[in-house]
Amino acid sequence: MSDPGLTALEAEVTTCRRCPRLVDWREQVAREKRAAFKDDTYWGRPIPGFGDPAARVLILGLAPAAHGANRTGRVFTGDRSGDFLFAALHRTGFANQPTSVSRDDGLQLTDAWITAAVRCAPPANKPTPTERDTCLPWTVAELDHVKHVRVVVCLGAFAWDAALRLRAALGHPPPRPRPKFGHGALWYDDDNSGWVLLGTYHPSQQNTFTGVLTEAMLDDVLRTAREVAG
Ligand code: SF4
Repeated sequence: MSDPGLTALEAEVTTCRRCPRLVDWREQVAREKRAAFKDDTYWGRPIPGFGDPAARVLILGLAPAAHGANRTGRVFTGDRSGDFLFAALHRTGFANQPTSVSRDDGLQLTDAWITAAVRCAPPANKPTPTERDTCLPWTVAELDHVKHVRVVVCLGAFAWDAALRLRAALGHPPPRPRPKFGHGALWYDDDNSGWVLLGTYHPSQQNTFTGVLTEAMLDDVLRTAREVAG
C-alpha cells in the first residue's frame, strides 16, 4: 500500500476499540485459538481494506472470520470463503495469484479493493446493527483514498444493505423504492453517485459446499463488474 494516507488510516483502524462486544470476542478468539492454528500468532485486531487504491471495483463483505482474517490480519485471508473468492478473482484477472494465506504471501489485486462492512470478527458471524453503523465511518474514510469506485460487488444481503448505508453516509439520499438484493442483481444509481451495486451470494461454505454459489456464478459476477465499471 503506497498511499501514505491509506497507511495512516490502516494504522488508525487497526487500533479501534469502539465496539466492546467485538473487541472482547476478537481478542478471546486470538488467545484461545483453534487447535489447527495453535502455533499461529493471531492478529486479533480490526482488519483494514486491501487491494488496489485505483480500483474501480469495490468488493464488500460482511465481517472477518474468527480463524480467517482475525488470525492472518488480511481480509478474506486464511479461510474457505477467501479461498473461493481469491480463486475467482484470479480467474477473472483481478488477482495475481489464486491463493491468499498470509499478509506477506505476495498477493496483489488490480482494479479491485476488498473490505468488510464490519472490521472485527463477530460471534456467530453476526454483527449487530449498532456495530455495523459504528464501523461504517471506517469505510467512508477508506473511500476517501480509494476514489475511483464505480461498482460495488456486495457479498450477500448484509453487504448490500451496508452498501446502501455507505452510499447514504457519502451524502446520497436513500433510493425509493429500495433496490432488492439477489444474486446477479444490478442497481444503477439514478442519483448520480456514480455507483452501481451488484449482488452475489456470499462465498461462505454454506453456499459453496451446497452449490448455491458455484465458481461459474461468481466468475460471471466479477466479469460483469469489470464490464459495468467501463
Ligand atoms: Fe472498531 Fe469497526 Fe471493530 Fe467496531 S467493528 S471495534 S468500529 S473496527
